[in-house]
Amino acid sequence: MALKLFDSLTRELRDLKPAHPDGVYRFYNCGPTVYAPAHIGNFRTFVVNDVIRRLLELEFPGKVKHVRNLTDVDDKTIKRSREADQSLGDYTRIWTDKFHADCAALNCLPPNVEPSATNHIAEQVDMIEVLMQKGNAYRAADGSVYFKVSSFPEYGALSRVKERELQKGATLKAAAFDDDEKEDGSDFALWKAWKPEDGPNKWAGPKGASEGRPGWHIECSAMSKKHLGETIDLHTGGVDLLFPHHENEIAQSQCCNGTTFSRHWYHSEHLLVDGKKMSKSLGNLYTLDDLAAKGFSPAALRYALISGHPRKQLNFTLDSLHAAEKALATLRAFSASLPAGGGNPDVFAPVFAALQDDLNTPAALGALFTVVNRGSAGVDHAAFTRVLFALGLKLDAPAAPKPEAPAEVIALAEKRWAAKKAKDFASADKLRAEIAAAGWSMLDRKDGYTLEKAKG
Ligand code: AMP
Ligand code: ZN
Repeated sequence: MALKLFDSLTRELRDLKPAHPDGVYRFYNCGPTVYAPAHIGNFRTFVVNDVIRRLLELEFPGKVKHVRNLTDVDDKTIKRSREADQSLGDYTRIWTDKFHADCAALNCLPPNVEPSATNHIAEQVDMIEVLMQKGNAYRAADGSVYFKVSSFPEYGALSRVKERELQKGATLKAAAFDDDEKEDGSDFALWKAWKPEDGPNKWAGPKGASEGRPGWHIECSAMSKKHLGETIDLHTGGVDLLFPHHENEIAQSQCCNGTTFSRHWYHSEHLLVDGKKMSKSLGNLYTLDDLAAKGFSPAALRYALISGHPRKQLNFTLDSLHAAEKALATLRAFSASLPAGGGNPDVFAPVFAALQDDLNTPAALGALFTVVNRGSAGVDHAAFTRVLFALGLKLDAPAAPKPEAPAEVIALAEKRWAAKKAKDFASADKLRAEIAAAGWSMLDRKDGYTLEKAKG
């Protein structure tokens, strides 16, 4: 059976097959904006994409090229780096390292190429120049460059934005995201002229434009072209990227290259926490460190994140992590009971059938537990390991639970970490003393810290 995924563009289930004669499957997944730790919602998307990557590896061994970018220049990265009084590069490096550490903890395979926007300015400028020459883009009065949406009649095919807006009785203008100097409300920025709040962050622009920086959407068109070519096999991201980001990527790439940009589009749904959209102000935004501080393992988070259908919203609760830890313990015990070989190689066929049918991870876990609950007869390690690989589940012995620091100590540690990052070492030292007085010690790592109960 072939791997099938829902295609957001044609709105049907379609087989995944490489188009290029070299047989390499070209897969682009929009990556994180590196200005803060990624939250568990972001990681739902990255874990789902990791399961896709793993299934592709099984389907096309050694012939998968997975590219996932880093957005390391935009309003947020610039603003936060300036607030922290760090260069943009130093600041985004911290959050890139943290993202890598979290991905490794979640057992996500690293992409084959991880290009960043600031390392591909020339490629973006080149594409913008082509779009200007072809009449798909224009320079605005302030030296920015905009994409002219009316020059691309197919605009909106992915998100059906025109139908959506017409249904609401509004015009496409309502979909505008950038303002400033553009000719039409729906046009979007390819290049943003420098503004004082950008500080030292500016690059030479396309011919005729001002110094500045690329708009967000163009980076994926340029990096995908550079590393995967003009036509790719699969492009993915969370549902919020469907419009305008992916719609704009299609417009840029297809107008520039004159050919299909991606043959297949896949969007996974969002994670909710306690039934609500995650937000700092609601206090329901979790990072991996927040969950580690509560004693949960990253493996349990990964399990919880794949326990819902990727194309349906998933409601996360701390209870789901307790259930995940229990499920992992059952799998661990099952694994220990298996012989190395001699079992039926097809015993887990229903698990793979569920995964190949539009990535039905909850059905796959159900099928896995049907086998586990029957007992180990006829099952061997080799077959079980293949299932664990596909789902990305690692059954290492769980870390011994550490005593959890009280909220006051965690609050002090957060303050000290912020002070340290802001290079306010006097405050950081004072806070360390307060933490010690409360009976805890704070151990600094490159990308975060741990709190340990002081001995004695
Ligand atoms: P960002 O760093 O904001 O560009 O987001 C990185 C990825 O996380 C994108 O693919 C988003 O679609 C995805 N994402 C953002 N919020 C959520 C959420 N609550 N649940 C699932 N995915 C999300
Ligand atoms: Zn993108």
